[in-house]
Amino acid sequence: MTLPQEMCIAEYQTAVDAAVNAAKDAFPAWSAKSPLQRSQILHKLADLIEAHLEEFAQAESKDQGKTITAARSMEIPRAVYNFHFFASTILHHTTECAEMDHMGCTNFTTRTPVGVAGLISPWNLPLYLLTWKIAPAIATGNTVVAKPSEMTSVTAWMMCKLLEEAGVPPGVVNIVFGTGPRAGEAIVSHPDVPLISFTGSTLTAQRIRERSAPFCKKLSLELGGKNPAIIFDDANLDECIPTTVRSSFTNQGEVCLCTSRIFVQKNIYNEFLERFVENIRKWKVGVPSDPTVNMGAVISKEHLEKVKGYINLAQNEGAKILCGEGIDSLEIPDKNKMGYFLLPTVITEVKDSSRCMQEEIFGPVTCIVPFETEEEVIRRANDVKYGLAATVWSQDVGRVHRVAKKLHTGMVWTNCWLIRDLNLPFGGMKASGIGREGGKDSIEFFTEVKTITIKH
Ligand code: NAD
Repeated sequence: MTLPQEMCIAEYQTAVDAAVNAAKDAFPAWSAKSPLQRSQILHKLADLIEAHLEEFAQAESKDQGKTITAARSMEIPRAVYNFHFFASTILHHTTECAEMDHMGCTNFTTRTPVGVAGLISPWNLPLYLLTWKIAPAIATGNTVVAKPSEMTSVTAWMMCKLLEEAGVPPGVVNIVFGTGPRAGEAIVSHPDVPLISFTGSTLTAQRIRERSAPFCKKLSLELGGKNPAIIFDDANLDECIPTTVRSSFTNQGEVCLCTSRIFVQKNIYNEFLERFVENIRKWKVGVPSDPTVNMGAVISKEHLEKVKGYINLAQNEGAKILCGEGIDSLEIPDKNKMGYFLLPTVITEVKDSSRCMQEEIFGPVTCIVPFETEEEVIRRANDVKYGLAATVWSQDVGRVHRVAKKLHTGMVWTNCWLIRDLNLPFGGMKASGIGREGGKDSIEFFTEVKTITIKH
């Protein structure tokens, strides 16, 4: 169902009520299907999206501003894989059993779907993150009311058209299109939606916690980050530098896992800066539909201004802009000049206390600062409110283990970035979130566990 922006709050409420009712009606039959039956439907949906991959990729790139290459090679293939992955996971999941011979008892657990799941996703990886929620929710037998970001709803709409052909019964997947304060809040505060899986900003998550608290809902919150990369002087710079450029600027820096604080050991600091900048200048910023560009446009004019605001702030505080905005020239064809383009920008000589080092910028901007000792860099890396991901570069195995364990983040990549096994937990500490998603974690979140004791 579509909800035009001009609809009033009451109309959104009515539309969300209708979606929840449809999901409630569909729940008994869907949850009663065997895991194999649900699995087959999920695989079919994945195949259908894959068959239309190019159309989805074109739409996602136009809607979001990401490069067509990223949409084709990462975003849409991952949406396909999300369905295949949970279609398979659900077949291999087992529950626990514990014998108590001395009491003459056997204990075991069962897992049942929660009911109608409320799913809310952001604009940066639209179909990728929406399907990362829909797939485990319906695989485990829930029905869903999902809301993509109002900024990037097109691919969710396209997916709706494939549901029937895939064999998803009416009412199992309901997508509501609308803004957060209206459609989003109507889902979050609906009494018949006992579970909310949210990916988005820490600020919105606070509001969701408040609105859902009276109902004691099950919450999974995947939020922002201010992710450090720590580069020791024994790092393999030939691998580290291109990977750190990628980790800073992939998808215009609009990935929650992007590196935005780079700590480099003092004796390699100057060499690192020089080679890092040399590497970035090879990146081409341009029209997203051009398959040769590395970076497209940021999501909106408002966001462009926000990101530029941080660069201005750094300058006003006396920091140095090493490359990018205001330093290098951006060549965009005349007809696209109104687009929201920004060069990858590096800030140096910035204090740890600066808002540029503390707040999530979520754009193509990274800060690079020097450090001397291991203890010092761990303390400084942890000194932010966020705790999503970190990257550590060193060839010393002992050091890599020590540092990884002491970082207050949900994920640490050492000598690499963004290698993900979907079986393992994904999520953040502190202001970066509550709960974890991933194979077993998602299955657990989207089900209620019950312990049953049988006396022989
Ligand atoms: P956002 O919080 O503004 O919006 C996210 C979603 O929440 C949108 O669908 C929006 O419409 C909805 N929403 C907004 N207000 C709402 C409300 N009051 N009630 C219910 N729903 C509401 O975030 P965004 O700007 O779309 O996305 C960027 C943020 O998402 C960044 O902070 C980024 O780090 C984070 N993010 C986190 C992850 C992760 O896995 N940790 C992944 C991607 C993005």
